[in-house]
Amino acid sequence: MRIILMGPPGSGKGTQASRVEERYGFPVISTGNLIRREVQEGSELGKKARNSMNAGRLVNDQVVLEILKKRIFSTDCKKGYVLDGFPRNMNQAKKLEEIHPGHKEVVLGLHVSDETVVQLLGARRICPKDGSVYNLYTSSPLKDRKCDICGEELVQRKDDKPQVVRERLKVYHEKIETLINYYKNKGIYYKINGEKDIKDVSKDIFSVLDKELSKIKKFEMTS
Ligand code: ADP
Repeated sequence: MRIILMGPPGSGKGTQASRVEERYGFPVISTGNLIRREVQEGSELGKKARNSMNAGRLVNDQVVLEILKKRIFSTDCKKGYVLDGFPRNMNQAKKLEEIHPGHKEVVLGLHVSDETVVQLLGARRICPKDGSVYNLYTSSPLKDRKCDICGEELVQRKDDKPQVVRERLKVYHEKIETLINYYKNKGIYYKINGEKDIKDVSKDIFSVLDKELSKIKKFEMTS
């Protein structure tokens, strides 16, 4: 099963993706994290992605697809995986079906207002060493502004600065309606209220996924 988590930047997609991984064992593939790693390593693909990423624009589809392909064909993805941050436009959605066909898809769209996004991202801090994510309002680190796990000083992502956040929201809204309609027409889109408590959002997501997985099991038993 391919679970696609959609939602504006800062809507808690990453957090919910990890919770889905914990419960069902499907690995999370976050294109944002994969691209950030390539940029940090200074690879050829990373060099091509860096400028767009820092400006809050979408990275070129071809580059993202190359980066995604390196991950998606690993053995741990055979039974299924959770996509966080991909696809972000129609071309990516179609290419995904082409390069990795034969997966039942479930699309979960987290709905969160722009005001909430700006507030949440302004308070997001990450550990530059191990990638842990904190929020100064909702999940602050235990000690000052240091990582709970490794003690490293937390930093703000370059693209979490207010001006860049506004650009990211604009880019998100430009493409997403078409994509949502595409998945709605396929009958695989589930709208999730992302403004609730983290735990309650997870509950809503699990209830959709439990139902979808039991349908697959029934199908496997009868065929
Ligand atoms: P967010 O969802 O909070 O914007 P991500 O970590 O998912 O954060 O993405 C950060 C940046 O990485 C995006 O602004 C964009 O530049 C790039 N990126 C991630 N996924 C994609 C994608 N599927 N297509 C193009 N660019 C992407």
